[in-house]
Parts: sequence; structure tokens; C-alpha cells
Amino acid sequence: MNIHEYQGKQILKSFGVNVQEGIVADTPEQAVEAAKQLKIDYNSDWVVIKAQIHAGGRGKGGGVKLAKNLDEVKQRATDIIGMQLVTPQTGPEGKLVSKILVAQDVYYPGASETKEFYISVLLDRAAGRNIIMYSTEGGMDIEEVAEHTPHLIFKEEIDPKVGLQGFQARKIAFNLGVSGAAFKEMVKFVTALYKAYEATDSSMFEINPVLKTSDDKVIAVDAKVNLDENALFRHADYAAMRDVTEEDPMEVEASASNLNFVNLDGNVGCMVNGAGLAMATMDIIKLAGGEPANFLDVGGTANAQTVKAAFNIILKDPNVKAILINIFGGIVRCDRVAQGVIDAYQEIGNIPVPIICRLQGTNAEEAKKLIDESGLQVYSAIALKEAADLVTKVLAEKA
Ligand code: GDP
Ligand code: MN
Repeated sequence: MNIHEYQGKQILKSFGVNVQEGIVADTPEQAVEAAKQLKIDYNSDWVVIKAQIHAGGRGKGGGVKLAKNLDEVKQRATDIIGMQLVTPQTGPEGKLVSKILVAQDVYYPGASETKEFYISVLLDRAAGRNIIMYSTEGGMDIEEVAEHTPHLIFKEEIDPKVGLQGFQARKIAFNLGVSGAAFKEMVKFVTALYKAYEATDSSMFEINPVLKTSDDKVIAVDAKVNLDENALFRHADYAAMRDVTEEDPMEVEASASNLNFVNLDGNVGCMVNGAGLAMATMDIIKLAGGEPANFLDVGGTANAQTVKAAFNIILKDPNVKAILINIFGGIVRCDRVAQGVIDAYQEIGNIPVPIICRLQGTNAEEAKKLIDESGLQVYSAIALKEAADLVTKVLAEKA
């Protein structure tokens, strides 16, 4: 689950990670109040106004602006709240900004230079371990750095038996080229960051930039925090940070019905029990000349209730030209599923696209008979090849 920058910073701060302090606001008036309240120990009176959306690249899109006084705070807040912010990560339609973070400027000038770094913590699936990935080239697109100057990206693998070791935190600070007070600050920062990552059951932290200020503080200027949804039951306070307005409405509805659903771009909706079978079904759709419109795993219980919820979600997508139901009746009996499909179909009424229903497993023959005798616009199949051929056929008829 993604959360906003301001929420990510709250979490980091609670674990002792230094962050750029800020106050969230919904209106320009609140923004001005927030700016007045921000009396922090930084050497600057300026504030920065940052759009809060679940996408990065906000600076490039005009969603991060400096304000030198309260009039400018009001002006910038008025500009940013309500804007449709387009960044390299939002797609061309952009995202509506409804909240901003008013934060104190941390790029104040001083005796020595400020320096931006990149630090992330994530699970390296190949290694089967958490890693800290970091670079001296912070503040910019890390994908660009990876492509053009990969030798400037470092990785530190963490042994789960012992956690992050002191020497590793020092090695990171050393490789980042900081010294003196900033070295100690960096070691503290990295240590607290890793502790926070583990304790929150996160699947990713990406702090870009981590800033070394001119007076040798080390702070998180940005915070992209992704929490593992499967662990949210242990963190009710974090679960409450979910902002459904940032998520795909179809996926929100699906998760309310306990369906495992991912919206895709294609023209054939699918409804499957089991994630592996769902992946295979998406391949079948491609082989049949279609493109999957979604990934949908209805889980173990393919009854009329779940089938109806799944139909309703798939049918919201105007690109869907056909629906392929592919259920393996191992524990659940195929005739039960078939009856569920028929009941759901009759409850919904007029379904405007053809349905191909492939039921294999216990009582597959009975299931096929039920479907065939239902008089509904549902094609039945037992073998996967038959189902694929039916998909090809109905798509050709629709074309
Ligand atoms: P992103 O573009 O969505 O990744 O948002 P960031 O939070 O990383 O902010 C984008 C850029 O805004 C940063 O890389 C900084 O260069 C700049 N920025 C953020 N906070 C401040 C600040 O306090 N002062 C100044 N001068 N620039 C800032
Ligand atoms: Mn950033």
C-alpha cells in the first residue's frame, strides 16, 4: 500500500529518522497557518509547498514550489491545490492534488555545500534479502543514474539473522563521501531508517533526496513509503493512512469484495480461481488473439456472491468485449460454480458481452450441462483449447 509523503515522514520520524519538518494542509488558509507554525531550527525562513499525490517526479511537474513569505505561501498553495498534476509517473491525465505539505526550506546556503543523496531499502528477490541501495547521485531520476552511471549505485545486503551491522552503516556513509559530523549523522540516519523499515513491515522505502545540509544535518527531504498490505493487520494506525482516492476505483471495489484484482488495458475480462491459473489464463487469452482486461483471482469460494461481484467489476470496463471464466473445481464443485454463474447472470440481468465458461474438475460434465441448458449467452467448455477457440471466435464476431 502506498501512502503520501507527509504520512511516510510521520512514520520515519517516529523511528528517529530526521525528516524535513512540515505540516499538511487542504486549503491556502491552512497553508498560511502551517507556515506560521513552522518554527524549526533551520537557517531559513522560506518554506516549500509540496503537492501530495501517490506519484513521484512532482518537482518536474510543478508540484514543488518555494515561497519566501506568507503572501507567496498563499499564492503557491492556491496554484497547487486543485491542480491536475502531470509528472513522468502519473500518465498524461495527471492526478488531482487535494493536499499539500508545507515544509521548511532545508536548502539554505551556508559555509559548506548542501549535497543530495539517494537511499532506498527494499527486498531483493533474487538475493532473498533486504538491501539498502544508495547513491551519491540523489535528487534525480535514479533510473537514469542506473542506466548511464551504474557504478554510482551501491547495494548493501542485510543478513536477516543479525540485521544491519554498524560496519555496514559506516561503509554506506563512507561510500557517500560524507565526513566529520555529517558522517555520524549519516550512520544514525541509515540505522534508524533500516530499523523503521523492518518494524513497519514495509516493502519499500525510497528517500530521494536525502540531504546533507550546509550545517551537516542529514534529513529525508522526500519519503516514498510502501507498506506490505499483508502485514497491515498488525498496524491499524498505518492501515488508516490508506487514501482510496489515489487508487484505481475498480481495484478499490474489488478489494472491498475480497477479490484479488488488477486492472489492465485489454479487451477480454477474466475470472479465475487461483493466481497461477489466472496468469495461465491471461496467456491463453493472448494466444487466442485477445488482450487481458484484468487479472482476477476470486480465491477459493467461487459462489454466486463472488461471481456477481466479479462480473460487476469487470463490466465497469468499457473495453471488455468478452469474459472468460476459468475455474478449476478441486475443492469447489464445478456444478456449484456453474449454478453460481447462472444465478449471478440472472441477478445482473442483461450482460452485454459473451461469456465463455470453462469449468474443469469435479462434476465438470454436470456443470457444462447446466450452462448449456440455462438459455443464457454463455458458452461452455471443458478443455482449455476449446475455451481459447471460443475466445477467438467471439472476438472475430465482435470485430
Ligand atoms: P519528487 O519530485 O516527487 O521526487 O519530490 P521531492 O520531494 O523529491 O522534491 C523535488 C525537489 O524539490 C527536490 O529534489 C529538491 O530539489 C526540491 N526541494 C524539496 N524541498 C526543498 C527545500 O526545502 N528547498 C529547496 N530549495 N528545494 C527543495
Ligand atoms: Mn523525490
